[in-house]
Amino acid sequence: MSTTNIITGSCLCQKVRYEVTGPPKMTLLCHCANCRKVTGSTYMANALYQKDQLHIISGEDVLKVYKDNNTESGNTVARTFCSNCSSPLFASGDSNRTVADVVAITSGTMDLGPSRGDWAPQFEVYCRNRREWITPVEGTMGSEALEVFGPSQVE
Ligand SMILES: [Zn+2]
Ligand SMILES: [Zn+2]
Repeated sequence: MSTTNIITGSCLCQKVRYEVTGPPKMTLLCHCANCRKVTGSTYMANALYQKDQLHIISGEDVLKVYKDNNTESGNTVARTFCSNCSSPLFASGDSNRTVADVVAITSGTMDLGPSRGDWAPQFEVYCRNRREWITPVEGTMGSEALEVFGPSQVE
């Protein structure tokens, strides 16, 4: 992590800019079907933070929230994206009180270098959905079906 302990980030069009302060609670790759749909890719790479660690610097007016109700747990996941360029930015489980203060931030929108010191996943979740051609990332812990915003969160 950077020495200042602040990570900046933005969406593709740069209208939305944010800062996160302090270390993440958890970093993870999610192989669930919904993360695949929302990224349009093979998995999502997120970092979980306390909501008060996230500061939106600009672009609040272009943020849109999609309430994702089609989850295995039945919990609603609020997926926030830039309505101008469509970048997925944040996700939170606002219907679930136990994680009401947690936000997942897409690592792809963070301004990071390529090194493991900048960012690396600690966990892989929904591994039962992982594409066969993707090998488990070295150094991660796997879970067949962890619901990040559900009650059985990894401690
Ligand atoms: Zn944008
Ligand atoms: Zn997912």
